[in-house]
Amino acid sequence: MKYDIVIAGAGPAGIGAALEAARSGLKTALIERYGCVGGNLTQGYVGPLLGKVCEGTVAEEIEAAICAKRGAVPDFEKAKIALTDMLDRAGVDVFLQTSVVGSERVGERIEKIQTAGKFGNISFEAEVFVDATGDGDLAVQSGCPYEMGREGDGLVQPVTLMFIIEGVDPDQPLLCRHEEDYTDLGDGREYLDLCHTACRTGELPENVNIVRLYATGRNTERMVNATQENRIDPLNAADVFKAEASLRRQIGKIVDFLKNNIPGFSDIRIKGSASTLGVRESRRILGRYQLTEVDLMAGRAFPDTVVHRANFCLDIHNPSGAGQSVHAEKRPVTPPLYDIPFSAMCPIGCNNLITAGRCISGTHVAHSSYRVMRICMAMGQAAGAAAAVMIKTKTATDTVDIALIRRHLIDRGVKLEDS
Ligand SMILES: Cc1cc2nc3c(=O)[nH]c(=O)nc-3n(C[C@H](O)[C@H](O)[C@H](O)COP(=O)(O)OP(=O)(O)OC[C@H]3O[C@@H](n4cnc5c(N)ncnc54)[C@H](O)[C@@H]3O)c2cc1C
Repeated sequence: MKYDIVIAGAGPAGIGAALEAARSGLKTALIERYGCVGGNLTQGYVGPLLGKVCEGTVAEEIEAAICAKRGAVPDFEKAKIALTDMLDRAGVDVFLQTSVVGSERVGERIEKIQTAGKFGNISFEAEVFVDATGDGDLAVQSGCPYEMGREGDGLVQPVTLMFIIEGVDPDQPLLCRHEEDYTDLGDGREYLDLCHTACRTGELPENVNIVRLYATGRNTERMVNATQENRIDPLNAADVFKAEASLRRQIGKIVDFLKNNIPGFSDIRIKGSASTLGVRESRRILGRYQLTEVDLMAGRAFPDTVVHRANFCLDIHNPSGAGQSVHAEKRPVTPPLYDIPFSAMCPIGCNNLITAGRCISGTHVAHSSYRVMRICMAMGQAAGAAAAVMIKTKTATDTVDIALIRRHLIDRGVKLEDS
């Protein structure tokens, strides 16, 4: 099959890329291994949309379509419908239940990619390819170099299975969004201290010393971000099943902990859970530029900035033990507003491939900030815009005029320039 652009992965980044490409007039294919679009935003039960970017990106449009208000946890069922509708209306050809499994490269150019799945083995040709698989599958199949894990021991952040509980007493307001959310339970006990003690005594699973509870929009429900399995390689089949089995068991233990200890939670039950393991970190595909924590902390601007005024804390969930952050008792560091350059989205060795989302080129620490969903969507949109310009001007990632990509995004309403 022949397209102008083929995008691998229909998560937040892939959807951003597909919408921008199709709206720019490109014949667009979006390939997704699961049975519905959304990635972590649907299958992963992940929310709320975190991170900031400048005004006018596709992230605003997506959030308005799937969240009751800005910063709210998405309605995941609504998201499945709304995201599908948006792609359909934009004219994107979506190939569900189809995995990208191979790539044929001639010199610095991908000529075609191979997919496999329910509908057999299909080859796709395109002028530009986008890797929005989160794991950088297409880039690696195309021979591009990558890094994984933190310096020293190579460990990545722990994996988590998200779930939602219902049956909470509507008069119990308890929420706990992160490890600085100290909450008095009203009977002399403090919620996070209780979690820490329960982790030490074994009432909570090993490494689960914080049970984050988010509002879902219904006061009898909470979204729970708590299960945690460390030292998992998310690209190893045995590890993935080991984690899945452990995390599903952890859900029961966490529910029992809440039932037995928290006033108003005695009647809770599981309403639903993610249908796939939540992977925070895997491959980081090496690009012509590698974004670092030094860039982030300096709020560095780049001549080829395509995502502007990005912001989120350096959020490294402890790869080797319990807890949300590696910063012990301190709050995670939050950089000033920073930019993401196009060159961090251009894998070394392949000049018609763009990465978008959590697999772009950055260090382990920088990744912990730009991996959140609003920022990933804005990167996707930038990838779609870059593809449109590359095709129109018959250029590649190393020859394209960056000013034209930026102009394309500005014309779309993205506030890349401060007034
Ligand atoms: C437990 C957890 C909690 C988090 N909490 C938050 C939060 O509260 N707020 C927030 O903003 N971010 C949060 N994040 C981070 C955020 O969800 C991810 O970093 C973000 O979704 C990355 O977007 P992406 O599009 O790059 O990847 P993904 O969302 O992973 O999407 C990648 C897509 O590609 C598909 N795919 C993968 N490989 C292939 C292949 N070979 N062929 C075809 N398709 C493929 C996948 O099925 C998926 O649909 C959390 C992450 C986790 C794991």
